[in-house]
Amino acid sequence: MGKIEVMSEDLANKIAAGEVVEKTMNVVKELVENSIDAKSTEIKINLIDSGVKEITVIDDGIGMDKSDAVLAFSRHATSKLKTLEDLFYVSSLGFRGEALPSIASVSHVNLKTCNGSVGTEVEIEGGTIKEVGSSDLKKGTRITVTKLFYNTPVRLKYLKNLYTELANITDYVNKMALSFPNIKFVLTNNDKVLLNTDGRGNLLKVIGNIYGIELTKKMIYIDANNDDYEIKGYISYPECARTSKNNITVLVNGRSIRNSELTKIIIESYHTYIPESKYPIVVLNIETDPILIDVNIHPTKMDIKFSKIDTLKELINKAVKEKLETINLIPEIKEIYKEDENISSSIPLYNYEEESPKPNVLEYSLNLEVKEDKEDYNVLVKDEDENKFNDMPVKEEQADSNRIKKMYPVGVVHATYIIAENEDGMYIIDQHAAAERINYEKYLEKLTTHDNTSIDLLIPIKLEFSNKDYIILKENMQILTDMGFVIEEFGINTLLIRSHPYWLPDYAQEEAIKKIIDIVIMTEDFDNYKFIDRIAATLACKMSIKANDRITLTDMEDLLERLRNTKNPFTCPHGRPTIITYSNYELEKLFKRVMN
Ligand code: ZN
Ligand code: ZN
Repeated sequence: MGKIEVMSEDLANKIAAGEVVEKTMNVVKELVENSIDAKSTEIKINLIDSGVKEITVIDDGIGMDKSDAVLAFSRHATSKLKTLEDLFYVSSLGFRGEALPSIASVSHVNLKTCNGSVGTEVEIEGGTIKEVGSSDLKKGTRITVTKLFYNTPVRLKYLKNLYTELANITDYVNKMALSFPNIKFVLTNNDKVLLNTDGRGNLLKVIGNIYGIELTKKMIYIDANNDDYEIKGYISYPECARTSKNNITVLVNGRSIRNSELTKIIIESYHTYIPESKYPIVVLNIETDPILIDVNIHPTKMDIKFSKIDTLKELINKAVKEKLETINLIPEIKEIYKEDENISSSIPLYNYEEESPKPNVLEYSLNLEVKEDKEDYNVLVKDEDENKFNDMPVKEEQADSNRIKKMYPVGVVHATYIIAENEDGMYIIDQHAAAERINYEKYLEKLTTHDNTSIDLLIPIKLEFSNKDYIILKENMQILTDMGFVIEEFGINTLLIRSHPYWLPDYAQEEAIKKIIDIVIMTEDFDNYKFIDRIAATLACKMSIKANDRITLTDMEDLLERLRNTKNPFTCPHGRPTIITYSNYELEKLFKRVMN
């Protein structure tokens, strides 16, 4: 008996609302999701000219019998759903039964399928079945779509956008490979392999297939749970940050979804670890009871709303932050060799947001002893103890409260870069960035302790404002008072600062006061954390030694020691690195004292 039934017109219309098969990516998506639903373990997607000329999807799934194969192209057929309610508990991906007919109506389709006993071949042109016969296919389904959009005006438009189409398809298939590490995905365009995973269930390996094998050494396994949610996945070292948010993949119960709040909280968890315009590479799976999610099914994306989103956000934020706080993140400078022959390393990284692909070049890499043995990759979906190796990269001797070893300064270059050493190697420290980190954490602490102790100024500072700024300031005077300012009105649009918070540096009080007041004037939303963070970062930048400021060796010792004692000694508040290193081994290699 066939598995496909025709769903009610009403349901079909509701699902179809807004859907048009208008991009090659959507066609690929429909076909691939049908293949996944057919329990395939291997899915090959072969494109010609980004799919505009031809899309072939071959799977080894359960296939269809003759009646299903014919019915598959009739409007609104579905094997999965009967009522609208089912939509919300649907466990399969290709819930839109009319996808195949939609595709068939704007193209030529050849379908070969076999359910294990009978092989069927169906030929459709512009939605009309031309031929039904038998096929020699032994198992699974093979669908070839040609002349896509041949009978619609969009065709020409897409011919101009081959690159974007390919970028979107690549991105989609990447995300499916990350969602289903147990399925082997092969994607080719004009015979060039763009992705080739092994389908052995190893998520880290899939990440390697997509981003290059080097990156897998810089992915950190995370794992956490609360009463409602369990999260598992990989987050990248801050140094691997990319220019697109699109490398943040969030899965719910193994399914790729979009939720801007979760993406935002992941980015925020990296706050000050990476610059604001850069984003980490993350693959995070959230396991939860479907009862806690509300799926807004839109034909082209999965938007999910979570009940108890706040506890989920907290869980993610804490897991990412805590992990970043346990690892030595000093980027190591290495001789860069040509990438190996691994096909994946030659894949350009496509992004929705970027016009051109960014080559996967890592300027420096970390000093982590990662075993070369490929079998040591971790599996997201497997047992916890399988993941030990990625929990590990912290070296034992760094297990004390300081994440980095003591460094001894030996000199300074261009009055900007301190050169230091210890038994592990040589370090280069940006003196401004380092001082900025120290001061930032100091101000942040002072600002969050709500101690409004103030110090009287010997000579009060008189500040004049425009009438607009004056009004804003008067409205927000309490914020300044809470910090420890004592301010009086002093004539037209003028304020008199009598006292300031005790922690402002003596040597630049006036400058610091003006900076804080500027921030109050410019701030639109006094979201407490962001406002305070901004003040701390701005003051830290202003109050820290600059590049080209000459400092003594003793000052350097002091600076390095204080940097070592910060919570995050690796980056300044703006996410720039404070330290980079050459390991002893790398130095020896560079000077050919050792050969490898
Ligand atoms: Zn600065
Ligand atoms: Zn900075």
